[in-house]
Amino acid sequence: MAERAEPEALVSAAEGGDPRALARLISLVENGSPQLRSVMRLIAPRTRQARVIGLTGAPGVGKSTVTGALVRAYRETGLRVGVLAVDPTSPFTGGALLGDRVRMQDHATDGGVFIRSMASRGHLGGLSWAAPQALRILDAAGFDVIMVETVGVGQAEVEIASLADTTLVIVAPGMGDSVQAAKAGILEIADIFVVNKSDRPGAQEAIRDLRSMLAMANYGEGAWKPPIVSTAAMSGEGIDDLIDRLNAHATWLAESGEGERRRVARAREEITVLAVAQVRERLGALPGEARLEELAGQVASGKLDPYSAADELISP
Ligand code: GDP
Repeated sequence: MAERAEPEALVSAAEGGDPRALARLISLVENGSPQLRSVMRLIAPRTRQARVIGLTGAPGVGKSTVTGALVRAYRETGLRVGVLAVDPTSPFTGGALLGDRVRMQDHATDGGVFIRSMASRGHLGGLSWAAPQALRILDAAGFDVIMVETVGVGQAEVEIASLADTTLVIVAPGMGDSVQAAKAGILEIADIFVVNKSDRPGAQEAIRDLRSMLAMANYGEGAWKPPIVSTAAMSGEGIDDLIDRLNAHATWLAESGEGERRRVARAREEITVLAVAQVRERLGALPGEARLEELAGQVASGKLDPYSAADELISP
């Protein structure tokens, strides 16, 4: 493939299952390439509404291991699976979660699996800008299931989890995770709780903690009550049960209309992030832009109030 392939060529190669084309397209997203505009236009009619599963939790709880086990289970049923490993904490390295690729090497030669770590290179909007576009690309490339794995760090992870149809919050015994999870506000985003490393001491306590936390929550009529699934992802124990719960959630999403609501909410957020980025660019309201810097100096020194400065920035 040519170094600077045309968007058309890249998109049809990716659709045909060429992993290098797919990797190139996702690099365009990471780099905020101007070519993205035509890529997104080309793929819009090709998106098939893949099922998006988000996995989140503190480092070391077993996200990659659970992901690997799910990939294996879905492959056995013939589904094609894409995995995006997103690290909101390292926007500049580009080598985010590289270990995952290594750990999931057993899928390396399987054309039905695509695994990619992703970082946002500090462009406007960061990962809330980049992640949905990468998902679209994988969707258009024909993956049936897309897993988005994020490190548990709070807000960024909540935003990325909001991209998913189903969000798994993973905890492991003995790490004080359930309390941590509550603090970071990620209990609210969980559709399914996974207590991984159930082969370790303390798993029952973790389940009990989560259960009592859930008992305090108020679920309305017809609402989804997050189940707690216990897994030992290393040996594969509990993964079938997890798949069953995932399927049950998918059914609930379809029947309740919540699935469609989430998709629309996601698109709404995506449009807003792009529009805000465009407006800021157009106004010169980017750090380092002369006009903004001058106004910022005036506001900082008390020569101007921030409202007047904002008016001045948006006045033609
Ligand atoms: P991540 O950082 O959340 O992606 O966690 P990893 O998947 O990298 O797992 C962290 C460590 O826990 C690795 O050494 C895994 O081998 C180990 N691990 C993962 N799942 C299990 C499990 O079910 N039981 C046990 N005992 N160890 C596990």
